Amino acid sequence: MQKLLVNIIIFFGMTSCLTAQSFFDKHFEDKSMRIDLILAGNKQNQTVYITELKKEPYWGGSKNNLKDQFNYGEYRFFIIDENTSDTLYSKGFCTLFEEWRSTEEAKHINKAFYQTVTFPYPKNEFTFILNERHRDGSFSTMLTQKIDPSDVNIRQTQTGKYEVAQIINNGPSHQMVDLLFIAEGYQADEMDKFKKDVKKHADYLLKQSPYLENKEKFNFWAVCSPSQESGPSEPEKGVWKETAVQAAFNTFYVDRYLESTNVKAIRDIAAEAPYDHIVVLVNSKRYGGGGIYNHFSLGTSDNYLAHEVMIHEIGHGLFGLADEYYTSDVAYQDFFNLKVEPWQPNITTLIDFNSKWQSMLSSHTPVPTPADSEFENTTGVFEGGGYVSKGVYRPAINCRMKSNEAKGFCEVCKNAGDKMIKFLTQ
Ligand SMILES: [Zn+2]
Repeated sequence: MQKLLVNIIIFFGMTSCLTAQSFFDKHFEDKSMRIDLILAGNKQNQTVYITELKKEPYWGGSKNNLKDQFNYGEYRFFIIDENTSDTLYSKGFCTLFEEWRSTEEAKHINKAFYQTVTFPYPKNEFTFILNERHRDGSFSTMLTQKIDPSDVNIRQTQTGKYEVAQIINNGPSHQMVDLLFIAEGYQADEMDKFKKDVKKHADYLLKQSPYLENKEKFNFWAVCSPSQESGPSEPEKGVWKETAVQAAFNTFYVDRYLESTNVKAIRDIAAEAPYDHIVVLVNSKRYGGGGIYNHFSLGTSDNYLAHEVMIHEIGHGLFGLADEYYTSDVAYQDFFNLKVEPWQPNITTLIDFNSKWQSMLSSHTPVPTPADSEFENTTGVFEGGGYVSKGVYRPAINCRMKSNEAKGFCEVCKNAGDKMIKFLTQ
């Protein structure tokens, strides 16, 4: 009987796996479609335009979990079957453009930012729908576009332009979280250093929760994209370098904010290997980084805090975590609407705390929780987070999403990361 039960469980397990697999195979090729967009506007308004469609050779994501389960991000898109109107794929994401829209500058001028989305390559005609999230939390549709995947003008990306090294290989990409590192500010003769720098970051990440408990679920790729000059651009010093993806400090006039607006170059290089998340590794001793959900993350190679910064940035980029700090200088104004529960899993306005980590609180923990030594290692609700000292609450006194001095992620961030890893590897 025991054995029969086991057999039945195995049988049903295989059946559901096969069903999901055949759903993928029915609707998608094991390649990526990439839609390049221009997002343009100001603080009040935004519009979107499609610039190009591409076919890329790899799909690194899950073949089973195709529909978003998190509802994270300031934008989301849907791939809708033309015949049945079923949602075949969906995903949330964030952009540098939406961050810029919260700066003072966006009140006075218009700007345009390049953006890309990727998804498995559909076999049949479909409708692409792009939604924007508003400050009240509601969504509206920015773009509805019918697309024929057999259109001869969809550009087919040629790969093999760069050396690709697999730094850590634990298995097939569809069942792994593939972190793809791009070399930025490394000249052609510095690629040994680049690969060693990726390995150092990988080794550090895999010793920290929730990576540690899932370390057999990660692949690390290094795409050796050479730069003409060594090191990144540092605008406030008047230093501008010719580099692979044109990363620069001083984004939005903040010294440590390292970003690249050359999204096209980044995605072109990333097409060389399968990935779930792109990391731009910048050859520099300087302190700084950036991370945007389902967009990409950036960090440096040689700063003494480079590893702590990198895991923080990938916390944004891969797990959708918010900043838990509120005392450092940022360019954003009123980033979170205090009348709405934010979508990020690790902060709350207490508008809908039940949807967050309320179940992880012990019955003895007061809400809000005083930031006293008594609650130092307690999951609570501590006021201050998301760039403001009042009205936004965080789960722990200290966390990697708050400071470089924290021991690691708080329990809520670990839990959110663990859920994302499971989603991407099933
Ligand atoms: Zn945290």
